[in-house]
Amino acid sequence: MYKWNIKEIDELYKKYKKMADSSNNIEIKRKYTEICDYLIYLLEYYFTYLEKDSVVTPYDNNVPSFRAVIKDDLKIIKNYGMYAPLFRNFNNQFDGLVINNPGNLQHIKTSPAGIVDMSNSFFQNFKGKFYDTYSEIAKKFPTHLQFRKLSNNYDSCGNTHIVRHTKMVYIDIGKNNTLQDYISHIHESSHAISALLNPEIMWDYNKYCFNEVDSLFFEMIGIDYVGTRINREDDALAIKRDTFIDYLYCAMLVCVKLDMYNTLNRDDLSNKKKVKCFYKKELDNDKVAVNNICTTYIHEIWHYVISYLTAVELYYIYMKDEEKALDLLYKIIMLKGLSKEEYLNKVRELGIIFGEHIKDYYNLIFEDKIGKSYGKKI
Ligand SMILES: [Zn+2]
Repeated sequence: MYKWNIKEIDELYKKYKKMADSSNNIEIKRKYTEICDYLIYLLEYYFTYLEKDSVVTPYDNNVPSFRAVIKDDLKIIKNYGMYAPLFRNFNNQFDGLVINNPGNLQHIKTSPAGIVDMSNSFFQNFKGKFYDTYSEIAKKFPTHLQFRKLSNNYDSCGNTHIVRHTKMVYIDIGKNNTLQDYISHIHESSHAISALLNPEIMWDYNKYCFNEVDSLFFEMIGIDYVGTRINREDDALAIKRDTFIDYLYCAMLVCVKLDMYNTLNRDDLSNKKKVKCFYKKELDNDKVAVNNICTTYIHEIWHYVISYLTAVELYYIYMKDEEKALDLLYKIIMLKGLSKEEYLNKVRELGIIFGEHIKDYYNLIFEDKIGKSYGKKI
C-alpha cells in the first residue's frame, strides 16, 4: 500500500513551526519557515488531488491569457536566449517532416506494487551512486508515494515534491493501466535521485534547461527495459515515438515563437490580432497549432526540449559505453553555482554535442522492424 502519511507531514509541520518560532537567527527562521510553507502546500495538494481515490485530471484547466503568455515568453527568451540555436537545429533537421501519431497504448493491468517492483529491478542496473540513492528513496515509498487514477485525457503524469533543506521527497504518479505507468514512476524516481544527490538542483534557475536530463535519460533506457520485461515492445516503441513527436512539436512551437518575437515590435505584440495573424501564416492555418501556440507558455516546454536533446546524446554514449554515460549524467546532475551560459558551456565541455544523434535516434525508433536495433540489452 502506498499512501502519503499525512499525519507525519502534519507532525513535521508542527516540529518545524516550533523551531522557526523559537529561533532568533534570521537565517534559520527563514529556512524553517520555508519548510513549513512547503509542508502546508503538500497538505493542500494532498487534500485537493490525492485524498479520495477518484478520477482526477492532473492540472487545472486554466487557459492562460494572451498577455500573460507573451510577458512570460519574453522573460524566458531574454534569460535563456543562448539556448535558442539548439531549437533551430533540432527543428531544421526535421523540417517538413510529417509523422503519424503512433496511436494509443494497449491497456494492461498495472498495480502499485508491480510498478515499484519494476523500478526496483530497473535501478539495480545502475549499481553505485544512482542505485544507492534510489534505495534510500524507495525505503520511504510506503508513506511518500501515492498513485492516482488519470482521466482519459492524460496519458502520463507525475510529480516529485522536494521539501527544500530536507531530504524529504514525496511523489505522486498518475496511473492509467498502460506501460506508461512504469515509465512515469521511473521518471519521477530519477528526479528524486537527483534531488538527493544535488539538493539545490530544483531551485537553481540558471540550470533550468537541464533539469529533465536525468528523468528523460532513465526514461529512455527504462522504456526499453520495461517493454522487454513485460513483453510489450510495441508499446515501448509507441511511447518513444510519441515522446519524440512531442518534443519535435515543442521545438517547432518554440521556433515559430522566436520568429514572431523577432519580427513583431512591442506595439504589435499587444495586438492579439496581429500575433494570431503571424501564427496563422507560419502554421498554415492549423487551428489546433495556433491555439496551442497562443496558450502555451514557452517556459513549460523549453527545458524539456533541451533536456531531451541532452538525454538522446547520453543515450548514444550509453549504447557504446554505459559507465561513461552514467558518469557524464552524474557530472551534469552535480553541476552547481554556474551562470546560464556556463551551464551550457560546461555540458558541451563534457562532450555533449546537442542534436548530433537526433536524426540517428529518429531513424532508430521509426524504422519499421522492431527489434533490429531495438530491444536494449541491459
Ligand atoms: Zn520531469
